[in-house]
Amino acid sequence: MLADLFVNICIVVALIFLYMKLRWKKAYEQGYSVKGVLIDGFSGGFMGYILMYFSINVTNETLLDLRYVPIMLLVLFIGKTPAFISSVLIIFSRFLIGVNRSALYAVVMISLLFIGYTILERLLKNRKDLKTKAVYMTLFSNAVVTYFLVILVGEFRLVGTIFMMYWVISTIGGISAVFLVDYIKKSEYLFSQYETESSKDFLTGLYNVRHFDKVWERNAETVKKKQGTLALLMLDIDHFKIINDNHGHAVGDFVLIELSSLMEQTIADKGTVFRKGGEEFAVILPDCDKAKALKLAEQLRFNVDYHEFITATGEQLKVTVSIGLASYPETTHETRTMVEKADLALYLSKSSGRNQVSV
Ligand code: GH3
Ligand code: MG
Ligand code: MG
Repeated sequence: MLADLFVNICIVVALIFLYMKLRWKKAYEQGYSVKGVLIDGFSGGFMGYILMYFSINVTNETLLDLRYVPIMLLVLFIGKTPAFISSVLIIFSRFLIGVNRSALYAVVMISLLFIGYTILERLLKNRKDLKTKAVYMTLFSNAVVTYFLVILVGEFRLVGTIFMMYWVISTIGGISAVFLVDYIKKSEYLFSQYETESSKDFLTGLYNVRHFDKVWERNAETVKKKQGTLALLMLDIDHFKIINDNHGHAVGDFVLIELSSLMEQTIADKGTVFRKGGEEFAVILPDCDKAKALKLAEQLRFNVDYHEFITATGEQLKVTVSIGLASYPETTHETRTMVEKADLALYLSKSSGRNQVSV
């Protein structure tokens, strides 16, 4: 019996791990959706069914297992609706295993567990520590399961030994399940946080140069396959050093931030803006021919030229930018050299007086 209960713990751990890996990141990114609730509900139901399938037979009719775990986890981590769906599924699938008195009692037991969890969840709402919730809910589950076991089996002597082993295994299983979910949830969260942070520039919130290389490679490859168009803008602030020298580094930072949002507003969904480093930026424009790119670049230059950069002290700064443009397939047939070509065009803008766009 101990072995069977141990198998139940293993199933709990394995299924939680699988579910979290397949589902959590997506769920975390997408937020609430009806489809998501159904998937969570059915996953809980499935886990309950597997646990019952591998449960131990206390008598010919009565099964003992950790089927309460998925319902408890859903109430604790996701919500009442998916928990309710899986409760209903667990009740139904119990009848698939056998239609008898125990299966009927299981209807009451699962309902009681579900109601109990939702009440406990509300009572413990303000408790920040997961440990208390995990302990209370697991002990509550043990009590309910034991109660029904005593009623069904009747013979207390027999129940006594089972009872002890069940409490040990179920307490370990229930609490570790809660901590496992919490652990995977936190590490998935940290991982996705790390992923976004490593592709973003800390000061401006724009994508950084590392991400630029990745996105550029991807675009350059697909455009050749699709025989489409692709444009690239390189942008550099004119005499930025003077702004820093005259107004201080903090004002320089302010200009970088303000300019970044101005660029994002201008480009909007037509492309992606990157901070390549210092006061240099790049814009990737997929599906954009030379004429369209030139118009956008000119718009960008104009918007910066006429934007009022007003510092915290109320000073108004004049900021202009120089832009270089390269486009595929018009200015070059080789996407490989486009970054270089756009840089050369930027250099041309600088050398011929700044505050202009060159191709
Ligand atoms: P040009 O018109 O030829 O581009 O002149 P410039 O002064 O803009 O160019 P230069 O490359 O000489 O100077 C760039 C300056 O940008 C120097 C550097 O201190 C400043 N800078 C780079 N990164 C940052 C930053 O994150 N914050 C601030 N405030 N300044 C920065
Ligand atoms: Mg500059
Ligand atoms: Mg520069």
